[in-house]
Amino acid sequence: MTTTAPTTAPAQGTEEVQDAGHVDVLIVGAGVSGIGAAHHLRGQFPDRTFVILDAQDNRGGTWWTHRYPGVRSDSDLFTYGYRFKPWRGPSIAAGEQILAYLDEVIDEDDLSQYIRYLHRVTAASWSTGDRRWTVEVTRGDTGQRLRFTASFLWMCQGYYNHAKPYRPQWEGTDRFQGLILHPQRWPGDLDLAGKRIVVIGSGATAATLIPAIAEKAEHVTMLQRSPSYYYAPPTTHELAVTLAPLDLPDEWMHEILRRQYILQYHWLARTSFEAPDELHAFLIESMRPLLPEGFDIDKHFTPRYRPWQQRIAVVPDGDLFAALREGKASIVTDTIETFTEHGIKVSSGEEIPADVVVTATGFNLSVLGDVAFTVDGEPVDFTQRVTWRGMMINGLPNMAYVFGYFRHSWTLRVDLVNDLVVRLLSHMQDKGATMVVPTLRPEDQDMHLRPWSDPENFNAGYVMRSQHILFKQGDREPWTHMLEHEQEREILPKADLDDGTLVYR
Ligand SMILES: Cc1cc2nc3c(=O)[nH]c(=O)nc-3n(C[C@H](O)[C@H](O)[C@H](O)COP(=O)(O)OP(=O)(O)OC[C@H]3O[C@@H](n4cnc5c(N)ncnc54)[C@H](O)[C@@H]3O)c2cc1C
Repeated sequence: MTTTAPTTAPAQGTEEVQDAGHVDVLIVGAGVSGIGAAHHLRGQFPDRTFVILDAQDNRGGTWWTHRYPGVRSDSDLFTYGYRFKPWRGPSIAAGEQILAYLDEVIDEDDLSQYIRYLHRVTAASWSTGDRRWTVEVTRGDTGQRLRFTASFLWMCQGYYNHAKPYRPQWEGTDRFQGLILHPQRWPGDLDLAGKRIVVIGSGATAATLIPAIAEKAEHVTMLQRSPSYYYAPPTTHELAVTLAPLDLPDEWMHEILRRQYILQYHWLARTSFEAPDELHAFLIESMRPLLPEGFDIDKHFTPRYRPWQQRIAVVPDGDLFAALREGKASIVTDTIETFTEHGIKVSSGEEIPADVVVTATGFNLSVLGDVAFTVDGEPVDFTQRVTWRGMMINGLPNMAYVFGYFRHSWTLRVDLVNDLVVRLLSHMQDKGATMVVPTLRPEDQDMHLRPWSDPENFNAGYVMRSQHILFKQGDREPWTHMLEHEQEREILPKADLDDGTLVYR
């Protein structure tokens, strides 16, 4: 992949920075997005040199970071899997199955040779004179500093900090005598047999973890401040069951089920806007028969927001509800007053005993992998920037980022964005351009700027906590980041690359 001979040059102070060579394309992140990007790049431009850098010691991103018991997708894998690679398993998959699927893509595309693990990108500086990015990297194993240069930067870094999970501050944690842990850092050898466990949180992680550990633990309590929406579909879609005897080719099954799930998601998204009360009632009522007789659904399972303003947590085959029915798990909806020596005291005065507390409290959002960007010597302040179609940023040349959907499968957008990046690279080649930079046209200069995520539309905690550090969107295309696959699957493939908002040089 490298084209220049590595040299070692002194950097600031006495530290040595090793020159790691030049590539045509540098991909940051070896998760679902980065592996997808590499597939598209290899397919369309087999002659371009590239490298994939990841701070972690293995592939998979999210699915490598999260290895707690029961970790699984919320989405069906026919849409969470790539468009180009059939999924052969049940609709909802365990983290390990997703990693195995990604391994197959890596093998089939022969990508291992291009991935550098334990390479954290810390800074990227664009030089218009040289038409290239200089990318500073620190190795996680040796601490050594490296410097790559690249003609194009493809940021596939995901949306949260993998090294520092979000944990609110609570009173009394220092006197708690049990263990406190976060699902993002699950110890491989933890034995939960006979333990009393409190899981703080109400999202998909809590819903997934609780049934998986309830079997062994003495008891699991889900402690939530406020309820979330849940939906309990079968692990395998009924259409897959119907089609199974026909023994169809994998590619057909993938495409048929993918279309079926896409239709379902579109219906869900539309209904959440057009008939939110009906959808709310449907979700609540579908839980009722799965819960114990007399269960207080109003208190524990009736959210205060509109469905789809946050992700709906999937409970395949209703396993969380089964744990509640069987008395292995219970729910407390209240606020934490303080940790005590032996548990957690909530505002009602109740003390929940605990040997282990799991803080399923979510993420710290990170903007473009916390990389410090400069353009021609000027540091980039993202809060003053505007997105171009949710994949580039005004004033940042030769840089695309991949951001999936929150409400639909992340990967549906990965495929769409990666198609567009590849189309852009081809377009540059046809024009003989070495630089493309999203630029506000005169008529865009005074446009009304909106937050990156409109809270009325999507207001998950990790997004709301970080709006102040995020770039913005405008009030018109292409300065928008759409959250709906139904719109984007029409718009992105036809996006005009010569509408005046992309300046080529
Ligand atoms: C437990 C869990 C379950 C989920 N389930 C679903 C689901 O069912 N459906 C769905 O659509 N979404 C789901 N998500 C969201 C999920 O994050 C995305 O689906 C998807 O995995 C994101 O992939 P990615 O490659 O874009 O980013 P990530 O998976 O976050 O991977 C990014 C990679 O980039 C690396 N990186 C970041 N910054 C740097 C840097 N500066 N230098 C070097 N490397 C860097 C990271 O180390 C990481 O390995 C889930 C998330 C979690 C946590």
